Amino acid sequence: MMTPNESEGTAEGMTAFADLPLRPELLNALSGLGYEEPTPIQREAIPPLIEGGDLVGQAATGTGKTAAFALPILQRMAEDRGAGPFALVLVPTRELAVQVSQAFHRYGRELGARALPIYGGQPIGWQIKSIERGVDVVVATPGRALDHIRRGTLRLDTVRVVVLDEADEMLDMGFAEDIEAILQETPEERQTVLFSATLPPRIEGLTGRYLREPVRIQMGREAAAPGETPKVRQEAYIVGRAHKPAALGRLLDVEAPTAAIVFCRTREEVDTLTENLNGSGYRAEALHGGMSQEHRDRVMGRLRGGTAELLIATDVAARGLDIEQLTHVVNYNVPSAPETYVHRIGRVGRAGREGVAITLAEPREHRMLKAIERQTKQRIAVRKVPTVADLRARRLELTRAALQESLMEDDLQQFLAVVEPLAEEFDVMEVALAAVKLAYDSSGATVDEEEIPEVAPQPSRDGRDGRDRRDGGRRERRGRGPAEGMTRLFVGAGRSAGIRPQDLVGAIAGESRLSGRDIGTIEIADRFSLVEIPDGAAEDVIKALRKTTIKGRKPTVRRERDATNRRSR
Ligand code: AMP
Repeated sequence: MMTPNESEGTAEGMTAFADLPLRPELLNALSGLGYEEPTPIQREAIPPLIEGGDLVGQAATGTGKTAAFALPILQRMAEDRGAGPFALVLVPTRELAVQVSQAFHRYGRELGARALPIYGGQPIGWQIKSIERGVDVVVATPGRALDHIRRGTLRLDTVRVVVLDEADEMLDMGFAEDIEAILQETPEERQTVLFSATLPPRIEGLTGRYLREPVRIQMGREAAAPGETPKVRQEAYIVGRAHKPAALGRLLDVEAPTAAIVFCRTREEVDTLTENLNGSGYRAEALHGGMSQEHRDRVMGRLRGGTAELLIATDVAARGLDIEQLTHVVNYNVPSAPETYVHRIGRVGRAGREGVAITLAEPREHRMLKAIERQTKQRIAVRKVPTVADLRARRLELTRAALQESLMEDDLQQFLAVVEPLAEEFDVMEVALAAVKLAYDSSGATVDEEEIPEVAPQPSRDGRDGRDRRDGGRRERRGRGPAEGMTRLFVGAGRSAGIRPQDLVGAIAGESRLSGRDIGTIEIADRFSLVEIPDGAAEDVIKALRKTTIKGRKPTVRRERDATNRRSR
């Protein structure tokens, strides 16, 4: 049986990356990354950008906007590479500069694309040397970019494309004049691209002055028709990336779905998460576009037959599937477009049955969540990830319910032989307590004792959540800083050195007075990691870590130089 939602999904998904005018080197990179299909913003933005036109895109983090501008730049660069930088991407923060630059490396590997992040706080001499060595894409914060331009160490006369990424954020941070000064240093015939989560009048002003007849793309223009979104209990949990697998496990424990489907972004994510869940005792099956039809049929059979309870899938793989007994849809990330969200959750809550849609969001994805709420005109309640105490309470409740059922239904006479002799020696109440403990202990997987740190959502800037923005606009990008009361440490070793979150937790818990639960969000980048720890413990932890090795290395450990984010000049 196909529902209208699903047939729509099939039609909508017809654009594959291969249908976009992208070179094989780029298509290879994308399939290597496990991307199965373009996100809506990519579908719409890539063709006009490859044509060379200007573009204004309204899109927040999580929509896939980085690839939407990076792929066309790489495509155009490959056809028309010169001596100097081909593209300049301006971004509000150092973190984003690093992320965007890494994205260019990932997508442009086979093209040998050289991208360089440039931001304040990093030694300028080192940056100058890197620029001299040759670079195709400069990804910079405005202040530092202008610094280089004024010193004559960055020339922009070869630049063909300029991207203003998170433009509203840059204006909020007081970069308006710098941006205009930089644009004036670039050739007039350049292609100019602006991405922004919101389009207030100031952005429109900038667009009017510097973009020529831009194509306009707005995420999720078509509002979902009332009634299109099924009545489903919709909840979201804000969790740091490192804690997502644990948070998911805990939610599954509390929700105890009959059958659930967990949506992931890429094939790799599907595989890793499936492994992780199976390792923790769940019965999860992976489903993605890289699998044969035969394999997919087998997986579906196991799910329908009840030998599997969890399906971990990409959108592509799940298209057209109809699972009768599905009770829960989980978005392991915030979906890249409101329409995707609506399609996904349309799989539960059918025919009057109760359905639950759970979304895990990283703090920076909070804005996408708000956009989905506005589109669907339905509230997604932000809830706290169950704590260890919540889990215990839930298990106690399950134990009580099981005992009650047994008292009402089972033939218990045969156990008199056990209880009677014990009752002579102990109080009957005590005997009961011991029996309950045994039942409780055998009632579930071992509860992991580590608390998942609570993280605050990054408030959306349009003021809907009532925060005061009259701060002079110079504050560092909120939500990207550490959580309140926490200090972020920089550790000079990351993914490429094989560092995993548990290695950092192990090193910190092993060497300092902190325990695992004191440690906050952990982010692992290619060549470094960031770890949040309580303010008061920073000195001790730094000292302790400097004396020890992590995965056989002695990496640099210091406080993250956060203040330099505020203004990169
Ligand atoms: P962005 O909105 O650019 O910050 O991207 C959000 C995340 O989505 C990043 O982790 C990307 O690697 C990922 N991503 C971007 N495009 C796709 C795609 N077409 N399929 C799967 N994942 C994607």
